[in-house]
Amino acid sequence: MITDTKSIKKTKQQIERANMPDYEKACKNFSWADIEKELASFAHHKLNAAYIAVDVNAQNFRKNKIALYYESEQGIKEQYTFAQLSESSNQFANVLHNHNIKKGERVFIFLPRIPELFIAFLGILKIGAIAGTLFAAFQEQALFDRLQNSEASLLITNAELFKRVEKIWKKLPHLKHIIIVERGAFEFPHHEHLLFFHKELKKADKEFSATPMKKDDPSFMLYTSGTTGKPKGVVHKHEAIIQEYSSAKWVLDLKEDDVYWCTADPGWVTGIAYEILGTWANGASCIIFDGRFNADRWYAILQDYKVTVWYTAPTAIRMLMSEGTDKVKKYHLSALRHMASVGEPLNPEALLWGIKAFGLPFHDNWWQTELGAICIANYPAMDIKVGSMGKPIPGVIAAIVDDQGKVIPNKQEGNLALKPNFPSLMKEIWKNKKKYSSYFVNGWYISGDRAWKDDDNYFWFIGRADDVIKTSGERVGPFEVESALIEHLSVAEAGVIGKPDKLRGEIIKAFVVLKKGITPSDELKEVLQEHVKRHLAGHAYPREIEFVNKLPKTRSGKIMRRILKAKELGLPIGDTSTLEEY
Ligand code: ATP
Ligand code: MG
Repeated sequence: MITDTKSIKKTKQQIERANMPDYEKACKNFSWADIEKELASFAHHKLNAAYIAVDVNAQNFRKNKIALYYESEQGIKEQYTFAQLSESSNQFANVLHNHNIKKGERVFIFLPRIPELFIAFLGILKIGAIAGTLFAAFQEQALFDRLQNSEASLLITNAELFKRVEKIWKKLPHLKHIIIVERGAFEFPHHEHLLFFHKELKKADKEFSATPMKKDDPSFMLYTSGTTGKPKGVVHKHEAIIQEYSSAKWVLDLKEDDVYWCTADPGWVTGIAYEILGTWANGASCIIFDGRFNADRWYAILQDYKVTVWYTAPTAIRMLMSEGTDKVKKYHLSALRHMASVGEPLNPEALLWGIKAFGLPFHDNWWQTELGAICIANYPAMDIKVGSMGKPIPGVIAAIVDDQGKVIPNKQEGNLALKPNFPSLMKEIWKNKKKYSSYFVNGWYISGDRAWKDDDNYFWFIGRADDVIKTSGERVGPFEVESALIEHLSVAEAGVIGKPDKLRGEIIKAFVVLKKGITPSDELKEVLQEHVKRHLAGHAYPREIEFVNKLPKTRSGKIMRRILKAKELGLPIGDTSTLEEY
């Protein structure tokens, strides 16, 4: 267990200017119905998430406010106001209507992070169909699995990516139409069932009344990143926007004049909840950068757009950190006022580096694809206990339970569980009732993560249940070993697994990526082992260390420990569709 409870105190000024100045008070007076009242609805409690996110703003004082700043890898820049997004997505909804797409049908998007992705997503929701997003890096098998399982009837892609779809189209009888976005200098394919995005849009009416949906009608579906196994189709409801909205307001602290940048891809739930739905419902101006990771480019974006609120992931923070603090100092980042992180445990070292580099801590928060919105978080007005994920957002009840779903005392490791009564919880797992019901035990949603809670109700992450290591009778979370390793000056990243051992049950093995310019050696291995022994615990040090150039990660940046383990043990590595090039 991480025992470094160093805390970061918030100043009076930080507390006063936060959207949620008093966490306890917000919890005490909380009701979802109050949040709902802040959002637009139709008669009979019906709503439409795309209408709330964009159309409402297109009709109010935010009409001409920039909703989306787009920048491509090559430096193409575009801007879209709420009015423009509303109108284009109306047109797209009409395109779908004209091609006979019905409520509940699955319409998938296979595009890089370009404005058309966002327009299409909104249009799909407006018509009441279910939107699915696919990472642009997916290859044929990954595409086939998802399009076949979802029985998608329409796909939006571009000319380059279409080459991958073309090969599998014949095997997808449900896929009736493909719409190609005419962007970039590619030769456009010819095919009788192909449509073209802008050509269709031009012909379409600009008026469309978003379909009133029941609260639990599905809005979008996503195949999880598959860190632990085969991706599953998680289906979300229109009413998830209620929590996406409240969490964006409290955790990301969005205000009228903010310029907000989320580095996630909409192929991942963060890119949907906090680039489209929750953030636009708060009227935020969002930046979409469709490019690869590059420290200088990222700092330039923060500087040039005067980003005020930044939401990113530990893997990116570690990469920035490994390039040094001097690099940050070359940029003018004084507009930045709030930073948050999600997706993986935020190593204490990375959180503290934020203060060194930007003068601000990263605020860790926790949730999962299945949960649809942030559930546990550190808030701008709440002191941070370094290494903790924070406290449940108002409206969410979290606990640590045993395998029978019984709440266990504070400070003991168990299953991180939630009361399944919040609006953003998934509706179902697509065509897999058994999987869906396996999440629930004794009235709790069991997350599959191990954690503990302290007496102040702060939650501490230990590891995915499958990743926790049992060594010489002790349980060790890989995250704490990884965090101890990256505290050492020579280490950029580390992935830690349990390796079966006759004597100890398992031993800890660490795969370590060194910082640029550091030479691997046996001496360095010993130094690192000593470092972990001293900083963490004698039993929790890695008996084996292997230096590697890269760690296997999902496209959303999570370390895939199951792949490290399978390779180590010579076992089949399983589904790798979400694996980043490795
Ligand atoms: P699959 O369930 O298919 O294996 P996945 O769990 O990697 O995929 P996501 O839903 O994107 O897919 O990831 C959620 C998981 O990411 C959490 O269960 C947790 O293990 C990890 N995670 C997310 N945020 C945090 C955080 N702040 N601290 C620690 N872990 C986190
Ligand atoms: Mg998961």
